Amino acid sequence: MRLSQMLFVTLREDPAEAEIPSHKLLLRAGYIRRIGSGIYAYLPLMWRVLKKVSQIVREEMDATGAQECLLPQLQPADLWRESGRWDTYTQAEGIMFALTDRRDTELGLGPTHEEVITTVAKDTIRSYRQLPVHLYQIQTKFRDEIRPRFGLMRGREFIMKDGYSFHANEESLKKTYQDMARAYSNMLRRSGLQFRAVDADSGAIGGSGSQEFMVLAEAGEDQVLYTEDGQYAANVEKAVSIPADAEASPFATFEKRETPGSETIEKVCKFLNCSPTQVVKNVLYQAVYDSGITVLVLVSIRGDQDVNQVKLLNELTKLAGNYQAKTILFLTVPDAEAQQKWAAKSLPLGYMAPDLADDYISAAKEVAPQFLRFVDQTVVELKNFVTGSNESGYHVVGANWGEQFQLPKLAVDVRKAKKGDRAIHDPNQTLQSARGIEAGHIFQLGTTYSKAMGATYTSESGEEQPLIMGCYGVGISRMAQAAVEQSYDKDGIIWPVAIAPYHAIICVPNVGDAAQMEVAEKLYTELNANGIETLFDDRNERAGVKFKDADLIGIPYRIVTGRSLKDGKVEVVERATKKAEEIAIEQVLPTLKQWIDHALK
Ligand code: ATP
Ligand code: MG
Repeated sequence: MRLSQMLFVTLREDPAEAEIPSHKLLLRAGYIRRIGSGIYAYLPLMWRVLKKVSQIVREEMDATGAQECLLPQLQPADLWRESGRWDTYTQAEGIMFALTDRRDTELGLGPTHEEVITTVAKDTIRSYRQLPVHLYQIQTKFRDEIRPRFGLMRGREFIMKDGYSFHANEESLKKTYQDMARAYSNMLRRSGLQFRAVDADSGAIGGSGSQEFMVLAEAGEDQVLYTEDGQYAANVEKAVSIPADAEASPFATFEKRETPGSETIEKVCKFLNCSPTQVVKNVLYQAVYDSGITVLVLVSIRGDQDVNQVKLLNELTKLAGNYQAKTILFLTVPDAEAQQKWAAKSLPLGYMAPDLADDYISAAKEVAPQFLRFVDQTVVELKNFVTGSNESGYHVVGANWGEQFQLPKLAVDVRKAKKGDRAIHDPNQTLQSARGIEAGHIFQLGTTYSKAMGATYTSESGEEQPLIMGCYGVGISRMAQAAVEQSYDKDGIIWPVAIAPYHAIICVPNVGDAAQMEVAEKLYTELNANGIETLFDDRNERAGVKFKDADLIGIPYRIVTGRSLKDGKVEVVERATKKAEEIAIEQVLPTLKQWIDHALK
C-alpha cells in the first residue's frame, strides 16, 4: 500500500480522551476512531491487525478440531428466559442491549452465545455418537458496560472468539478444556504477548473449573496473586491463602467499653490499643434476589481482613432457593438511602455486633425479616475478641463465641486474599501481586444451560442425559490493544511481528530523487510479491516526518533509500531496537525473510 493513496492520519498530540498508553497510541497513530462511548471504528491498519489476531486464533482453534460457525447477534428474549438469564442480563448487570421489534417481540443483542448454541445443540445433537463436538465463532459482541473505557480494552462493541463444546462425560470435557488451555497459551505466545494463566472465579453455578489468561500490564483492570515458585496463580476474585496469624488478645475478661468516635477498625484499635486481628468486624450487605426479595446480610470477619464480594455473591447465590429465587440481581453495601427503605430504626453503624437484632428490619413483604448471618473462617477460632456492642460509642472486649455471642451457622470463606499472605500449597511462599488484562477465559460449564434449556442426548445405554458443556472466550480486539500496552516506547507502538499490520515500510527521503524512487518502487514490488507485507511512504514529506510516522505506527522494519544508495545499499532499521544496518539492495528480501521467519518462531 502506498501512503499517498491511503487514509493515513496521525496526530502529534495525545488525545485528551485517552488515559492509558495503548489507547493514546492507537488513536494517535490512526488505528482507531472513537464514534461514541465504547464504540470505535477500526481503521484500515487496525483491521489488518485484528485479522491477523483472528487468524492466529482460528489456526489454534482449528488445530484442536473445533469447527468455525457464525451465530446470530440478534437473540430472542425467549431463549434467555429459558436459561433464566433475561432478568440478570437486562436488569441486574444490565449488560445486554435489549430491544423490541415491530411485532412487540423482545430481543437482545448478543453479549455471549450460550443460549443460542444450546438451542442449536438441542436441535441437532441426538446421540452420544455425535459427541464430543466443539463449535466456535469470531464475531462482534455487544455489552452495555457500566464503565466503557481504555479504548478497545472495554468497549460496548468488541470482537470476541467464543467457543462452546458438548460432551457425554466429564473426562471428555476435561480433555477439551486442557486442549483449550494449550490453544490459548499458543494464541497469546504466537501473538507476542507475555501472559499468565490463572485460576478464575466460575460463579456459584459454574462448573468445576475455570482459568483466565492474563496479559501482564500495569494498566490491567484485574489483580493477579501468584507465588514465585510458579505453583500458584489466581485472580484475586478467586484467590485463597493463609491469613496472617492473629495476635493473642490482651483482654482476659468480657467488658463493655466506651469507645467514642471509633467507627472504624483503625480508630477502635488505636483507642483500645489492640491489634485488628483481635477484632470481629461486622459488615452489612444488601442482596436483592430475582424473586424481588431483599435480604440483609451480616458478615463477621477479622478486623484486618476484607470481604471478597465475588466469594460472598457465590455463597448468597447458593442460598437463592431459600428466597424463592434462582439468582441475585444486586449485592451492595446499603447507603443511607437504601437503609431508609427497610431499617426500622437507625443502625449502630461502626458499632454493630454479630448479634445485631432482627428488629432493625421493619416488616415488609419484599424484605426477609431476619439478617442472614455469615461468619468468615478468620473469626471462628478467635478468643477474647473485640467487637461492637450494637450501641453507638461502645464496643465490647474479651468476648467469646458460645458465651456472649452465638457463632453463626454459616461459616464460609469470603475473605479477600492479599499480597503478602502465605500460600496454601506451601506456607513458605508468600503471595505476590501483579496487574493483568483478561484476554481469555476458559470454563467448564457442566449442565447448567443444557438442563435449563432441555438440551439432551441419548447415552450409550439408551438414557436421556443433559449435554455436558464447556465454553471458551478470547477477546480479539482487547488482545490487539493489550499487545500495544505491553510493547511501545516514547516514539510509538512496537508491534510484535506476528500481528503487525505490515512487516516493513519503505521510506523515501526525497521523492523528487529519481534514483531513490526507482529503488523504492523495485523493492516495494519485490517484497510484496514475496509475502513481505510492505508499505511505501511515497508522500511528498520531509524524511523526518516519515521516520516519525513509521515509528509511531510501529512497523517492525523500516527501509530507507537514502545516502548509501550510491554503494548499492539501503538502510534497514529495526523498530524495536532502532538498530540500523546497511544492506545491499538484492539482499533486502532474503534478509527480511530470515528476520521475519525468526520472529515468528
Ligand atoms: P471482564 O471481566 O473484563 O468484563 P468478562 O469476564 O466479562 O470480562 P468473558 O465474558 O469471559 O469476559 O468474555 C471473554 C473475553 O472477551 C474476555 O476474556 C475479554 O478478552 C473479552 N471481553 C469481555 N468484555 C469485553 C469488552 N467490554 N471489551 C473488549 N473485550 C471484552
Ligand atoms: Mg471473565
